[in-house]
Amino acid sequence: MLDKQTSQRILLDIIKLYPRKHKRRDAFYVLISTVLSQRTKDANTERASNALFRKFPTAYELSKAKVDEVEKLIKSAGMYRQKAKRVIQIAQEIVGRYGGRVPDTLENLVKLKGVGRKTANIVLAVSFGIPAIAVDVHVHRIANRMGIVKTKKPEETEVALAEILPKKYWTRLNGAMVNFGQKICAPRNPMCSVCIFREVCSYGQRNASGDSGSRDARS
Ligand code: SF4
Repeated sequence: MLDKQTSQRILLDIIKLYPRKHKRRDAFYVLISTVLSQRTKDANTERASNALFRKFPTAYELSKAKVDEVEKLIKSAGMYRQKAKRVIQIAQEIVGRYGGRVPDTLENLVKLKGVGRKTANIVLAVSFGIPAIAVDVHVHRIANRMGIVKTKKPEETEVALAEILPKKYWTRLNGAMVNFGQKICAPRNPMCSVCIFREVCSYGQRNASGDSGSRDARS
């Protein structure tokens, strides 16, 4: 395990060097596109979200949509049958319980069917600017792999990272970690030989000689 000071420096460097720009920050879009993003690539999520929001731009409109029509619009995101039902149901709950406005508390967001802590924290951070650390598989994997935390569940990672990172940086961590994971620290074949954290990263120190290092680090 790395010490707190080193861990904090690494996290701040990732935030600074791998920022992720969000094209849209409106809460309903962020919420629905995060649900659509499960188990698919960013490009697929964006295509599906854009098609869906062109046709159904508000919770009111999506709440009245037909499942088969939504399925066609979001097909590129994969698992489209399940996701279509889910996003319509979320829209209906937002209209029925919150007058069409996405709630801005963790407590109320996770009450929406199919919305977990990670998705809720993304909405809080990206749309409402409320300090929250969204821990998805990328954040959980990279933080453990580097030796910043030693945890089994994303919820534990969230708590551990909150103790290391000053609150004012929380909202930017998820996007930066995802970006870093896509560009350098991939799930398989992380590019340790070109990674600036190799000297401090627990995994990098053990495995740098074994990585492929042949993919473009900026792709
Ligand atoms: S050294 Fe390797 S495992 Fe460590 S952060 Fe860099 S790419 Fe990931």
